Amino acid sequence: MSLTKRIIWAMVSGVAVGVMFNIATTQGWLAATFNTWIDSFIVDGIFDIVGTIFIASLKLLVVPLVFVSLVCGTSSLGDNTRMGPMAGKTLVLYMFTTGVAITLALVVGVLVQPGAGINIEGQASYTGAEAPSLKQVLINIFPSNPIQAMADGNMLQVIVFAILVGVAISRSGEPGRQVASFFNAFNDVIMKMVTLLMQLAPAGVFCLLAKLFAGLGIDAIWKLGKYFFAVVAVLLIHGLGVYSLLLKVLTGLNPLTFLNKVRPVIMFAFSTASSNATIPVTLRTVEKRLGVDNGVASFTVPLGATINMDGTAIMQGVATAFIAQAYNVDIGLSGYLVVIMTATLASIGTAGVPGVGLITLSMVLSQVGLPLEGIAFIIGVDRLLDMVRTAVNVTGDSMVSIVVARGEGAMNEEIFATSAEQLAEREEAEQAPKLQAG
Ligand code: ASP
Repeated sequence: MSLTKRIIWAMVSGVAVGVMFNIATTQGWLAATFNTWIDSFIVDGIFDIVGTIFIASLKLLVVPLVFVSLVCGTSSLGDNTRMGPMAGKTLVLYMFTTGVAITLALVVGVLVQPGAGINIEGQASYTGAEAPSLKQVLINIFPSNPIQAMADGNMLQVIVFAILVGVAISRSGEPGRQVASFFNAFNDVIMKMVTLLMQLAPAGVFCLLAKLFAGLGIDAIWKLGKYFFAVVAVLLIHGLGVYSLLLKVLTGLNPLTFLNKVRPVIMFAFSTASSNATIPVTLRTVEKRLGVDNGVASFTVPLGATINMDGTAIMQGVATAFIAQAYNVDIGLSGYLVVIMTATLASIGTAGVPGVGLITLSMVLSQVGLPLEGIAFIIGVDRLLDMVRTAVNVTGDSMVSIVVARGEGAMNEEIFATSAEQLAEREEAEQAPKLQAG
């Protein structure tokens, strides 16, 4: 069975086992001692250990992979003048798709009225972590200590440093070529590491989902059903419809091929709820399965995982509409325009890790004078929504990578059109002689 199929099986069985445990332990079907055993030995024991190791194995790859791959990418652009237009196009597309996402979310939020008649005034309190100010976000882009940036996993700073190294390499003549060939070899080795660690995915995904669903308050979803399903609906419209349309219009490529091939990225994002932890899989898929040149992908993918969060913006749009309706506050058309602006900025400031979208939501709410306590009401269903919105976030990064690559003439359409199975066979055939020679 292919890895993708094994991961799908792991997802389905992980959810099934988790829900079974959840029902069995909450409905009092089992003896109390057995419940405790399930909770402490299986759920908080085995599932937690394997799930945490799996996420760590992805995260450990992120900084070396982004750094090395981006150095290779930038130095291979050779003529650095291409960097500016490419970066410009990427940023414009990231902002544009986020703007569309949040607008769609607000339209649905106003039409569906998920918070109408809920009346939550004075019922909850929420003290969230403070969202970073825009000024701080801007200053934080530039590293004063690259090693510290890597140790902290500060992606924007790592990106800036890698671009500097890459540009310097391409302008250093012979010594630059020597360093570049080292980085290219190192990049191959790290890509191999990605392939190796991806073998852990079925076990990791199973344990993550089983643990999550075993502890999930499923009734919370029914109570907030309208909000929950409104967010999911907009996420699906955007992830399947808007991206397909944009891909078709901007590149003429087949959206179904794209959606089919981007599946591993969606699955990893869904299971980890982290765009950052998914970077290794996104980068590998975008380059090896979708045919985007490393020169583009090594820049667009980590940048997208850090600043492009369409799914997060969608949740923030529907959540703002929900909270306004639940508090009977009419924020008016100008209020919604402010939401579009701030949610686009908030999504740039949202780190690609689980749950941060909810923290930056406070930035959006306070801009339009809505009470932050409203967040307390949607926390219960946020983890599940986080998984779906992260999947949309990374699908957006992949789609934009293709559009930018196509515009830059850095896209291999033959790879894009070739089936994933054939590509895997080809890769194996390429590896065999290398191993024998070794
Ligand atoms: N978990 C999301 C991501 O990593 C961010 C968020 O919306 O909380 O992309």
